[in-house]
Amino acid sequence: MLYIVIFGPPGSGKGTQSEKIIEKYGLTHIATGDILRNEIKNGTNLGNTAKEFIDKGQLVPDETIIRMIENKIAEIKNQTKGVIFDGFPRTVDQAIALKDMLADRNEKIKLMLYLEVPRDELIRRLSKRAETSGRTDDTPETIENRLKVYEDITSPVMEFYKQEGTFRCVSKIGAIDEIFIDIEKIIDNL
Ligand code: ADP
Repeated sequence: MLYIVIFGPPGSGKGTQSEKIIEKYGLTHIATGDILRNEIKNGTNLGNTAKEFIDKGQLVPDETIIRMIENKIAEIKNQTKGVIFDGFPRTVDQAIALKDMLADRNEKIKLMLYLEVPRDELIRRLSKRAETSGRTDDTPETIENRLKVYEDITSPVMEFYKQEGTFRCVSKIGAIDEIFIDIEKIIDNL
């Protein structure tokens, strides 16, 4: 099975490119932000806990996220060709936990795909998205905080995958389809 991590700061296009990858390669999408927003909508305990962190632009505690991912991985059916993780891992401890979880199934991450986008472009995109997304964490203050959390806590995850030898970077600025061409080349050469 093909296990991929799509990685990058908020606003880098992980969700958009994930959709295209899923469509072409038949992977299952595990997007922690989407799962958490769904839990919030349904008013579950997990959702209530998560909301306090999300609305401040902080990370939900590792323990909560790791348990949630364990449940999702357990649900994966044999029909799937693989999984794309989007918004996870966001800390080095999450990356280590993921490695252990997959090792239990004799699997591993084959690719960590980093979407590199300059900070001013991210702020532009996120501010624009805020006008229509309805997301409570798309306010100017929270956007600043999310970018800071990304820089301080999440970006070291890249080093982990560099050491694993699975790190690849796409840094083209351009149309969605042009970026996807670069991504296809990387995946097809795995
Ligand atoms: P973004 O567009 O900012 O990357 P996401 O939808 O991936 O947004 O995540 C939104 C929020 O959900 C994050 O700011 C964080 O509070 C929480 N979250 C999502 N994934 C994780 C994770 N792996 N670890 C901790 N918190 C997470």
